[in-house]
Amino acid sequence: FRTDLRLADNPALAAAAERGLPIIPVFIWAPDEEGGWTPGEATRNWLHRSLEALDQELRSVGSRLIFRRGPSLETLQTLVKETRASAIFWNRRYEPAVILRDTRLKESLRSLAIEVESFNSHLLREPWEVKNQSGRPFQVFTPYWKHCLNLPEPKPPLASPTKIAPPSPWPKSIAVGDFKLLPKIAWDNGIKKAWQPGSAGAQKELHRFVEQGFNRYSTERNNPAVIGTSRLSPFLHFGEISPRMIWQGVKDYAARAKLDLTAWRGSQFLAELGWREFSHHLLFHFPQTTTEPLRPEFSKFPWIEDPEALRAWQTGMTGYPFVDAGMRELWTTGWMHNRVRMVVASFLVKDLMISWRAGAEWFWDTLVDADLAQNTLGWQWTAGCGADAAPYFRVFNPITQGEKFDPDGTYVRQWVPELARLPAKWIHRPMEAPKEVLAAAGVILGKSYPEPIISHAIARERALEAYARIRQAK
Ligand code: FAD
Repeated sequence: FRTDLRLADNPALAAAAERGLPIIPVFIWAPDEEGGWTPGEATRNWLHRSLEALDQELRSVGSRLIFRRGPSLETLQTLVKETRASAIFWNRRYEPAVILRDTRLKESLRSLAIEVESFNSHLLREPWEVKNQSGRPFQVFTPYWKHCLNLPEPKPPLASPTKIAPPSPWPKSIAVGDFKLLPKIAWDNGIKKAWQPGSAGAQKELHRFVEQGFNRYSTERNNPAVIGTSRLSPFLHFGEISPRMIWQGVKDYAARAKLDLTAWRGSQFLAELGWREFSHHLLFHFPQTTTEPLRPEFSKFPWIEDPEALRAWQTGMTGYPFVDAGMRELWTTGWMHNRVRMVVASFLVKDLMISWRAGAEWFWDTLVDADLAQNTLGWQWTAGCGADAAPYFRVFNPITQGEKFDPDGTYVRQWVPELARLPAKWIHRPMEAPKEVLAAAGVILGKSYPEPIISHAIARERALEAYARIRQAK
């Protein structure tokens, strides 16, 4: 088990079960084998609880999870010796360093006459199966997704096994707590309150979303003050649910609600799942993009090193309420609404001109859904240096974005309580509010809430000039 922490629709598990022999479910913690992208604090936290949930799920079908520490190859070789296992099955991952590691694992284990098979549990389409007319990878989302929708429909998800044959005896296991994934200082109360990691939690979110959220998705998905999206991203990252299960969930709902094909297959929601697919497609074909811009001209971009401004951004103290609300939501719950992710990312790379890599690293550490493919795509898109990127002249205005997507300020009031008593007219622009309005709301700029760390109007001009120079130099 790796990023497929579920029993249902798990092709590696199903293939193993088909042999009719005892199965030893194993999780190996090998953070040094991730090509420098050691899982961050928030995902480690999630992983601990998800592994506990998977172990429970396995126990309910007569099995359990064996926990071992890496290195992966030596650990698997030892397990093979201890148990005389004849075959090893896993589901594929797509991060560049992991692909290399897994290829070596396969070769080494096969050279010891062990059968090794890998499967697709994580994506609707394998990245190498989708090509444009000239046989090359797509670099623009719309034709990519259109092409995918014209391919045969994804296969229905596989059922959960009802019984898994145990080995006798069980090999030794360390405890999940020995991985030390939980924080030493308990900062994770907000995450605990917000989420139920594991496949049961994933099923609950899917059910809620399909029954109550799908038909409202296109109108509510941009409103961060309500639960207008599926909130399935961390479950998808760890494979507690598969994209095929989500596809099927939407399809079943569409049949019950008598929706036509355009309304469900062509829906905005499935297109978002398409963006997830696209991000893996890009990472597979352009593995350098985790640290390098896909558009090479951007390697000369004059990013600014400003630790103080970076810190203000990280801690939600920029003086722009919509940005600060997002960064505080992230810090507390490990998640941030997509609209707000775009705005805070734009603020970092365009207003502050701090490199997208610094933003990607912060997200990597703090998001419970931190995913190398999706995070890389999100940041390169915002910085304008990736595939199908936002046009360079799009610099989100953090004030008007707030006014448009959080018009009455509910979202800001929740996450920036020191502004809660400001009237809606000023909640996104306290820097322009009359003194008496601030005083009546108990806001002292520079004391109870920061003054803006930069003027958006000036920053915008500066960014546009820098971007224009890069375009000219192309
Ligand atoms: P829904 O709107 O319900 O969408 C369903 C699923 O589609 C999501 O769970 C997600 O897997 C996928 N999805 C939705 N939007 C996108 C998108 N724009 N790009 C790729 N996949 C998408 N998502 C991550 O899962 N991990 C990340 O590390 C991550 N980093 C991001 C960084 C930046 C700068 C930006 C702008 C976006 C990032 N996203 C990331 C994408 C997106 O913000 C989240 O997937 C989304 O907010 C998750 O909420 P949801 O599950 O309710 O999404």
